[in-house]
Parts: sequence; C-alpha cells; structure tokens
Amino acid sequence: MGETIFGKVIIKGKIIVKTGLHIGAQTEAIEIGGIDNPVLKDPNTGEPYIPGSSLKGKMRSLFEKSKILEYSPELRGPPPKGEKDTSKYFLNRNIGTSKNPIWIHVHETYDGAKACEICRLFGSSGDSNYPARVIFRDAYLNDKRNLEDVIEIKYETAIDRITSAANPRPMERVVPGTEFEFEIVYNVENEEEKKEDIKNLINLMKMLEDDYIGGSGSRGYGKVEFRINSIVERGLDYYFNNADEKPIVSGELRPEEAEKEVIGKL
Ligand SMILES: [Zn+2]
Repeated sequence: MGETIFGKVIIKGKIIVKTGLHIGAQTEAIEIGGIDNPVLKDPNTGEPYIPGSSLKGKMRSLFEKSKILEYSPELRGPPPKGEKDTSKYFLNRNIGTSKNPIWIHVHETYDGAKACEICRLFGSSGDSNYPARVIFRDAYLNDKRNLEDVIEIKYETAIDRITSAANPRPMERVVPGTEFEFEIVYNVENEEEKKEDIKNLINLMKMLEDDYIGGSGSRGYGKVEFRINSIVERGLDYYFNNADEKPIVSGELRPEEAEKEVIGKL
C-alpha cells in the first residue's frame, strides 16, 4: 500500500568534505593486494562516493535521538519485561537477541507510522511497513582533480591500552575540500505536512554538519558541510501536462539560509 503522490520536491546541492572522510567498502569488494581499509568506490569509475543510505541512516538516527525527548522518560523504552503493549514506547522492538538486544523505533500500524514525523519521512519497516517519503540518491564525486589527489592514505596508530604497543594501520580517506553532488527527492503525499517535512530535512542537514558521516567520527573524521543549490517543486502537471516546475530556492545557500527561504515559498 502506498500514499497518493501530489508531486515531488527535489533538493540538489553539494557536500563539502571538511575533515578526512572514510566510508568503508565491504570486505568482499576489496581487491587482493589492496589496502586494508579502502574507501567505498563506484566500481565503474573507481571514484569514491557517499551512498544515499549513509546520509539517510545518519539523518534518521539524529532525528530519532532528538525526537525521543518528546516522550516522557518512562515511555522512551525499551519496554519493561513482559509488557504486552509495546507500541506506546519509542524504542519498541528488539531486533537483536534477548542477550544482546538491539531496540529500534517502529510502528505496529500504518496510521501510527503516518502520524510520526520521523517515520513519515524515513519510512517504518515494522508491521506497518510505511514507505519513506524521501529518496536519498548516492552522492557522486564532483571534483576536477586526479583521484590520487582526492584520496589519501593515513596511518592510524592504534595504541594497545594494556601493553601500550603501537599498531599502525593504513586507512584510506577522502581529503578535505573534496566535493560531492547530492540529490534528495521528497514525495508530496500531504500538502499540509510538506513544509514541515522539508524544514525537518534541512534542519537535519544542519545537525549532520555538527556530527559526522562514515567511520572514526569520534576521532575527527567525517565532518561535512552542505550547500543547497536548488529546491524545485514539480506538481503532477509538470509530469503529465508539460507545466513548468516551481523554483523554490536557488543559489549556493547554507542550510539555514535555504530554510528561511523555504518557509515563505513552499
Ligand atoms: Zn515513528
């Protein structure tokens, strides 16, 4: 089951790497004789990219961590043992084991997910299976330099806390100053919620700038900045009747600047 679509809002811009970025590749993708900790690369071009799933996952997690505060402490979860109605708790499903629990936020019902600011944007995978309104495209490299100038190898020295022995290991990173192009597509399913949803997305970009993407964030990796180059709205007329799209925002705007413009125009 899906919602009606009244149109789409497309947000485009760039992600500027501010501190070395390491989004790791899956181990099976590592070539023999390659470096231990390579960054994820597009197999066709060999260029690093930021997967849409990384951006989406990080923004969702930041949104959840801030929204949980709207629940009273006893309802934040996880539910007490033996509780039958877990749906009133924010963290309400254990996808781990009873020994190693991993509690996540989902909804039992479709309407519950639809009424939730987080899940209507990012989707809910529980019984409700509410599809996300937002699509994060993979963000591809937009940089004229040679690849060897975009990727560096940094030797991270892990110190054994017990023996104090140094254990240097190579780590590939995308260097600061590198730019990627992002695109986020938002499906307009409810006109009344459109402005709030887009504002939430832009605010999550602001929050992500003060967080990190990829690995080793607590050790300084993965700080990024967003520039929003355009936000356009495409109604059904655009797709079916050759109508023009409606420009909402253009230029090279910081998220907070774009947010101010969106409020008046969307
Ligand atoms: Zn939710």
